[in-house]
Amino acid sequence: MPATRTAQLMDGTGLARRLVEETATRAAGLAGQGIEPCLATVLVGEDPASVTYVRMKQARCAKAGITSRSVVLPATTTTAELVDTLTGLSQDPQVHGILLQHPVGPHIDERAAFEAIAPEKDVDGVTTHSFSAMSFGLPGFVSCTPGGIMRLLDAYDVELSGKHAVVVGRSAILGKPAGMLLLARDATVTYCHSRTTDLPAIVREADVVVAAVGRPRLIRGEDIKPGAVVMDAGYNAGNVGDVDFDGAAARARLITPVPGGVGPMTIAVLLAQTVDAASRGLSG
Ligand code: NAP
Repeated sequence: MPATRTAQLMDGTGLARRLVEETATRAAGLAGQGIEPCLATVLVGEDPASVTYVRMKQARCAKAGITSRSVVLPATTTTAELVDTLTGLSQDPQVHGILLQHPVGPHIDERAAFEAIAPEKDVDGVTTHSFSAMSFGLPGFVSCTPGGIMRLLDAYDVELSGKHAVVVGRSAILGKPAGMLLLARDATVTYCHSRTTDLPAIVREADVVVAAVGRPRLIRGEDIKPGAVVMDAGYNAGNVGDVDFDGAAARARLITPVPGGVGPMTIAVLLAQTVDAASRGLSG
């Protein structure tokens, strides 16, 4: 028999909807001033998952009153050609935000491509400039999924100062920035990764768990500290997260469902940051 759920669900779908509505209002305000917020999406090749992700982002843009400019390049595109395209978009005054859908294919130097995105248009938060601005607590765009996690924590008034946050995963777009944003909010942060010994023992100490791995149910419910807050960014085949949801929900105070938790926040933050980019310089 499944354990009784005691945790409150953190409704990422609802929060994302409200953020998109707020973004749409801001976009309409800009349009009234003659500025049409525009996100350029760049897709290399025809990987079906990437094609779907880009389409979803364009559809959400349309809902929020953001124009999307679609750039589709053949799978044979070289690093130099991709860098040229991104440099051109960076210089185009009609384009406010740039999203390079990744992965871009093994023959392309992905880092070189990302770095061709102008920092002021890096609404996906993927450049080293954005990463260092975040690390120094300076203005700039944050990586969208960690940004969404922080917004969810704030929406549910989760106290972070002095709390032990355990981030499982250390990718440059998710785990690492998530930990740094938590650190900036005075959490005591522990990073875990594939070489961590005794992950369960560390998770058992966590007041806040951020799962960012990509392995179904890696985090066991029995290891969640009673009353902890569980943010599951993992998304695996069969709509399964990185956390054993039923087991964790029987012990946690707050938990994100998969789907409907962290996932919807990512695109919502991307749209909000695109409108931020388009607003730049208007209000000083
Ligand atoms: P990634 O680049 O593959 O990184 C995975 C991380 O997990 C790595 O740091 C890896 O450690 C660590 N790891 C692997 N096996 C582990 C284990 N057994 N124990 C502890 N740590 C382990 O993945 P990612 O791009 O960060 O994505 C992670 C998950 O989030 C995926 O499920 C992805 O689909 C999801 N995601 C969701 C969104 C969203 O919009 N909701 C956005 C991005 C990603 P090493 O560094 O040692 O290899």
